[in-house]
Amino acid sequence: MGGFLSSLKKKPNTGDSSAKAIFPFRDANDPRIVYRLSDRARRISLKVNTADREVSVVVPGVRALKKAQKFASQQSDWIAVQLEGLPPPQPFEAGGHILMRGEIYELVSPPGRGRPKIDHERRVINVPSPDAESFPGRVRRFLIREARDELTAASHFYADKLGKRIGKISVRDTSSRWGSCITRKGEGHISYSWRLISAPPFVLDYVAAHECAHMVEDNHSAAFWNVCDTINDDVKKASKWLRKNGAFLHAVGAEW
Ligand SMILES: [Zn+2]
Repeated sequence: MGGFLSSLKKKPNTGDSSAKAIFPFRDANDPRIVYRLSDRARRISLKVNTADREVSVVVPGVRALKKAQKFASQQSDWIAVQLEGLPPPQPFEAGGHILMRGEIYELVSPPGRGRPKIDHERRVINVPSPDAESFPGRVRRFLIREARDELTAASHFYADKLGKRIGKISVRDTSSRWGSCITRKGEGHISYSWRLISAPPFVLDYVAAHECAHMVEDNHSAAFWNVCDTINDDVKKASKWLRKNGAFLHAVGAEW
């Protein structure tokens, strides 16, 4: 009898690696809550991630999952307050409104085919789409293209001022940073978040100047900020804007 019971008890241990494979996963009742496994964590904890607009439940080992789920449901009021404090989502849907160059633009799905067009006077972005499902993807790709054009122009402008050469420019969805720069063989390879296209132009310009300045000073020393100030007039104003309003940029295209 004892042998039978102990073999039953052992069973969950053998499935440890497959049990790990379910992580990370979203809460069945609220997709804004994500369970993440951490082998280094010593206790269950909650982490608000404003860039991804979600709350992580840090699970210290597979066996703590049940307890972690219980803990998250006990803390549901606290979690709700954190998530409701985020700017409202700006999903890519026809008739919706999104931030573009620091202004509010309406998303319109006109009939027919063709490339997306911006009407700056009426603050409208026209994105022709064959069906409703492909609309969000088209809007997103259009914004990434716009971001790439503007960030490429701005990067060359500031690199020229510093007498430096730009290598590759990548524009992607970097959730934690607005930009980063690595210098290789005398060329600066810069990566930007496409979300900068939603910020006012002086903010996008500042981030480009900031990354180009890293080709001169690969740190955040006083010397680095001096370089920034010599090529851009809005360093203080723009960094303050990003600290204060960054969460609005992460709301663009968000579903919840
Ligand atoms: Zn930097």
